Amino acid sequence: MEPTVVSTSTVAADEFDRNVPRICGVCGDKATGFHFNAMTCEGCKGFFRRSMKRKATFTCPFNGSCTITKDNRRHCQACRLKRCVDIGMMKEFILTDEEVQRKKDLIQRRKDEEAQREAEKEARRPRLTEEQSQIIATLVEAHHKTYDDSYSDFGQFRPPVREGPVTRSASRAASLHSLSDASSDSFSHSPESVDTKMTFNNLLMMYQDQGSSPDSSEEEGSSFSMLPHLADLVSYSIQKVIGFAKMIPGFRELTAEDQIALLKSSAIEVIMLRSNQSFNLEDMSWSCGGPDFKYQISDVTKGQSKHHFAVSY
Ligand SMILES: [Zn+2]
Ligand SMILES: [Zn+2]
Repeated sequence: MEPTVVSTSTVAADEFDRNVPRICGVCGDKATGFHFNAMTCEGCKGFFRRSMKRKATFTCPFNGSCTITKDNRRHCQACRLKRCVDIGMMKEFILTDEEVQRKKDLIQRRKDEEAQREAEKEARRPRLTEEQSQIIATLVEAHHKTYDDSYSDFGQFRPPVREGPVTRSASRAASLHSLSDASSDSFSHSPESVDTKMTFNNLLMMYQDQGSSPDSSEEEGSSFSMLPHLADLVSYSIQKVIGFAKMIPGFRELTAEDQIALLKSSAIEVIMLRSNQSFNLEDMSWSCGGPDFKYQISDVTKGQSKHHFAVSY
């Protein structure tokens, strides 16, 4: 095993790559880098080091001017060594065994420190606790259970009206009340503390208050705007948010008043957050199934301007 193997390759990467041909200055073989101050092959590197350590003196059997090649470099050590010195190889660059060991140690120490730093960085990286991961999983599951991304229920809403008077199909005109009755959500048959219907009606009233204004005639409201459809959409969404809330750990343990207060104050925000899932940046619309249920921003503002419908789904 050659002890100096780590010590002698002192190549400045850019110098090596750009300016120096990778050819041994001694014998013309393929060079591996700078060794003892000159670009050489591994063979000439070892030859120079051994010669220097042995303090060898060679004599040329010829006339002292052999041309050293890859194939004949073993034939005349004298001329090979002379060539080494001629191209700038210096014995001062040869490390003692001690220096080699020190250099090896230094490299190892740097590696260890680097590994140590990595480990510390890894340890500092914020991580979720088991409990936090569990809560997130529960919330995600609750979301999926209460957000139907096929939007298959949207056909039950009173139909959207976007331009001109449209004769509404009576069969499709589900009233808000029947909608809430028809719900098959888990919350609607839960016998627990909160009367969900009360909660729902409570919320609904709030939005209906906001939805009525003196100049909104029944005629205009039913045939000329998105309002009935949006109202159904919002009521439906509120139902789903209530279902979602009930799956949040701890929510059911709250008093009925607190549950209602929380829902009243945040249901619309949650609905808006959830609506992002169907929002498409490319055409700036909410896509919830077929063309009827593709909502432009203007669809929402139509309802808003005429009816001060504060809920911009
Ligand atoms: Zn060589
Ligand atoms: Zn010679």
